[in-house]
Amino acid sequence: MKAFELQNPVTLAEAARLLPTKEGDESARLLAGGQDLLTELKHHLVEPDRIVNLKHVPGLDAIEWGADGGLTIGALVTLQDLAEDERVRRELPILAEAAESVGSPQIRAMGTVGGNLNQRPRCWYYRNEHAVCLKKGGTECFAYEGRNKYNAILGGGPSYIVHPSDLAPALVALGAQLMLASPDGQRQVAAEDFFTLPSEGNVLRETVLAPNEILARIVVPPPASGMKSTYLKFQERSSYDFALSAVAVCIWMDGKKVKEVRMVLGAVAPKPWRVKRAEALLAGRELDADALKAVGEEALRGAEPLAENGYKVPLTKGLIVRALQKLS
Ligand SMILES: Cc1cc2nc3c(=O)[nH]c(=O)nc-3n(C[C@H](O)[C@H](O)[C@H](O)COP(=O)(O)OP(=O)(O)OC[C@H]3O[C@@H](n4cnc5c(N)ncnc54)[C@H](O)[C@@H]3O)c2cc1C
Repeated sequence: MKAFELQNPVTLAEAARLLPTKEGDESARLLAGGQDLLTELKHHLVEPDRIVNLKHVPGLDAIEWGADGGLTIGALVTLQDLAEDERVRRELPILAEAAESVGSPQIRAMGTVGGNLNQRPRCWYYRNEHAVCLKKGGTECFAYEGRNKYNAILGGGPSYIVHPSDLAPALVALGAQLMLASPDGQRQVAAEDFFTLPSEGNVLRETVLAPNEILARIVVPPPASGMKSTYLKFQERSSYDFALSAVAVCIWMDGKKVKEVRMVLGAVAPKPWRVKRAEALLAGRELDADALKAVGEEALRGAEPLAENGYKVPLTKGLIVRALQKLS
């Protein structure tokens, strides 16, 4: 590992000032729980001169409920604390289930919410220090014609990574807002707009976060009454693993009929993949066999599997059916 200077700012503004201002300047990186960053350093995927440790900034490790029932989660809240929070489990099961599905107990004890949303791709070409793929400034996505069992079936190109975060689809489904701090102040971005496709923004990044911005807090608005929610994830290894596919669903029923639904797919696209046409198809319908079949077809419409990941299409349709059956 390349030697680096460790800096321990005590305010968000100070931390943000220690970060680079120019796109492409990799001289400093933020450190939260270190579960992803340390691996990147050890594998020479990033070689910053400075590590800016967020852990001395007070107030970022709190889970707070507003009088209106909204929830604010500090970026340094651990996945374990989020998964174990009694009120989160009761009122926002989608979030507790997503946090609980991440990695192993050790990873959840150290990993933070902010780090989870900003973690880098798991594609093994990206993770191999010798493969200079598109995500590392190369000219080619090696997964496209290479080993692509774990890659994108939706929204891919020119890079075919999938976003690895389990929390991200759940927060998009909940309509969460992300509070970003920089030396110039704060701005608010909807979770849905935070993540980008490789074809939309900078292919070297997965979010709209500027180099000197820090994710400070996540605000989940108070859910409209009657919301039921769940996060279902399919993983190859049950002890701990990244998702092969996942589905985050928030639903409001009116008797036996769907009043409203928000549905976001995970691990099938470079960003959490909201399926608005499938949501619209369910409005006003009972969740009978025809509706469940139709919603799966609509959600996966436009999927373009690569050579080794066609299995994600039926797998994801199955997860959608299971999630909706569970909630109804
Ligand atoms: C073996 C293993 C299995 C895993 N399984 C899963 C899984 O099943 N599901 C899943 O979702 N994840 C999984 N992960 C990923 C893990 O959950 C994340 O790496 C972890 O949550 C990152 O949190 P951290 O606090 O350790 O982040 P760090 O490693 O400290 O940071 C991660 C990245 O985010 C940046 N960053 C950190 N905090 C902020 C912030 N507040 N604002 C802006 N940028 C920030 C850092 O600069 C870095 O690039 C796994 C990881 C491992 C090693």
